[in-house]
Amino acid sequence: LLSSVVTVGSLLFGAYSTYQLLYCKSDEISKPKDGVEELIGNTQMVKIRSLSNATGAEIYAKLELGNPAGSAKDRVALNIIKMAEKRGDLVRGEPGWVFEGTSGSTGISIAMICNALGYRAHISLPDDTSLEKLALLESLGATVNKVKPASIVDPNQYVNAAKKACETLLRENEDGSVKGVFADQFENEANWRVHYETTGPEIYKQMEGRIDGFIAGCGTGGTISGVSKYLKEKANVSCKVVLADPQGSGFYNRINHGVMYDFVEKEGTRRRHQVDTIIEGIGLNRITKNFRKGETFIDSSIRVSDQQALDMAKYLSVNDGLFVGSSTAINAVAAVKLAKELGPGSRIVIIACDSGSRHLSKFWKEAREVNRDLTLEQAMH
Ligand code: PMP
Repeated sequence: LLSSVVTVGSLLFGAYSTYQLLYCKSDEISKPKDGVEELIGNTQMVKIRSLSNATGAEIYAKLELGNPAGSAKDRVALNIIKMAEKRGDLVRGEPGWVFEGTSGSTGISIAMICNALGYRAHISLPDDTSLEKLALLESLGATVNKVKPASIVDPNQYVNAAKKACETLLRENEDGSVKGVFADQFENEANWRVHYETTGPEIYKQMEGRIDGFIAGCGTGGTISGVSKYLKEKANVSCKVVLADPQGSGFYNRINHGVMYDFVEKEGTRRRHQVDTIIEGIGLNRITKNFRKGETFIDSSIRVSDQQALDMAKYLSVNDGLFVGSSTAINAVAAVKLAKELGPGSRIVIIACDSGSRHLSKFWKEAREVNRDLTLEQAMH
């Protein structure tokens, strides 16, 4: 009897171990994926201990920098390409190009995904784009078209240049032998939708539905629109959504006072003023389709100075080991302000859009002299 009990026991234990090995959650995480595009999304969430301890709130960062090409833009690029495939504008296994005008992370995401899926990337950018981004694009083998920085109304401005290059390719290949799409991240609704369908639900699940505040910056508006629309409309979470805006950008006034004060539209002519900040990827003086989609879900905006962002980036680096990019630092400053407003115990999520390693030659060049004695109060000034 004893030996049969032992045998059954060991069989059960064996079966349980096999079950654990095959199906337990931690094992699922490490299952091999079929290609890099399958690594996109399902990013980690981490508590920012220093800011949480100092404020009594729980402040978390959604680590979008963990995506394979290093930013939240992987989600957007993949969805833009998937939507183009759905329309038949790109076909797997056939020659196809994706065109985009971007000085930011979107081009890097597009280049990576194009390589993984068998397409080619053509990226137009201003010729003063940071060296890291240029090097990444070139290393990924993208066709890079450097143009002189110009206003958006100029036909040679980089977004217009990308659109024109796409139109030229399509005109020269009317038989459809080579396909091409203009990604158009500012106006393309595949952008906010992917955050509505993936980033938002992930945040909701990771926080078990208990979220009092959500903070993001706004470049195209895709992230803040998609996530806040999901949280407030779909998941019915009553949280405060805050747009963290860099100095010089118009969203702060648009959200808090109903006007973008330095956006001028007169007799059909538009003047868009340059945003005066070292923060990359966020801040605009114009309204995009992706921003409009979620504007009604944004409760307020907090304006953050370059100096505050620099000091916060250093603070997170030495106190938490979090080496973040400039827009993440802005979100963290806004999180501390929101934590004071919402009070101890409140749960706040910020987007950590990308890593500091993408900003070494610009933002982090200014921040390099790290001061370990900097207090949070000093960093917030
Ligand atoms: N941070 C960084 C570093 C970015 O590149 C961007 C996108 N331009 C954003 C934040 C803002 O994201 P969104 O375009 O979804 O508003």
